[in-house]
Amino acid sequence: MKCALITGGSRGIGRAVCIKMAELGYHVLINYKGNEAAALETLEAVKAAGSTGELLQFNVGSAEEVSSVLGAWMEAHKEDQIEVLVNNAGVREDGLMFMMSEAQWNNVLNISLNGFYYVTKQVLSSMLMKRYGRIINMVSLSGIKGLAGQTNYSAAKAGVIGATKALAQEIAKRGVTVNAVAPGFIKTDMTAELNEKELAAQVPMNRFGTAEEVAEAVAFFASKGAGYITGEVLSINGGLYT
Ligand code: NAP
Repeated sequence: MKCALITGGSRGIGRAVCIKMAELGYHVLINYKGNEAAALETLEAVKAAGSTGELLQFNVGSAEEVSSVLGAWMEAHKEDQIEVLVNNAGVREDGLMFMMSEAQWNNVLNISLNGFYYVTKQVLSSMLMKRYGRIINMVSLSGIKGLAGQTNYSAAKAGVIGATKALAQEIAKRGVTVNAVAPGFIKTDMTAELNEKELAAQVPMNRFGTAEEVAEAVAFFASKGAGYITGEVLSINGGLYT
């Protein structure tokens, strides 16, 4: 069985990526943190797209949970290959730096950056052994240009961009590519409380993007045809930043 693991697959961009991977014929491993109802909806959508899938609940920011849940799954599925890993889970806890608590800083860094480390490390050896793999990291415009009020989030995403480039070079010879997708404003729960009208006016395309538009780019990096592309960061932001 060829599998695609999407962290934070229960909602938003992650859900759209799960559906896209299902359309490409992958058995979809839908990771989520706590929203089981949403994760089950994603699973239904994966089935409706003509494929199979299952839920894997773990906090990507917990080394222990990643190892006990994902590690156990891999141990029990030695014949099944995770070909595609999408490190998508992320949170934002915005605030001005002078008021930012240590917990706000650590939580955002832990989920995006440590989460990338824990999950990728768990899956990497098997990709290297099989000499094939596609790792796609969900970063952000915020990690490229920095956004006021998001020092924690910008730092976390910039960190993942650095890790993407370093790991890409480290494992290029083994047929495993590592790329990142950097969305601008995308309509999901994460952006639900933002002033869409005001912010969309700053976007050359004059609108927020959709999760499906981000999933298209992920599917490209996941494809066999993208085999000579590694260490890249692709912006999907309606022209907001070039
Ligand atoms: P979202 O709608 O808020 O969904 C977040 C997803 O991440 C949910 O599936 C959630 O699971 C999961 N999650 C959160 N913390 C987790 C943890 N510790 N362990 C495992 N899963 C966890 O977010 P989104 O807008 O789709 O964003 C997805 C990714 O794109 C994030 O990395 C985000 O930073 C990035 N991004 C988003 C935008 C945007 O405009 N939306 C722009 C740039 C980058 P539960 O359902 O269980 O809570």
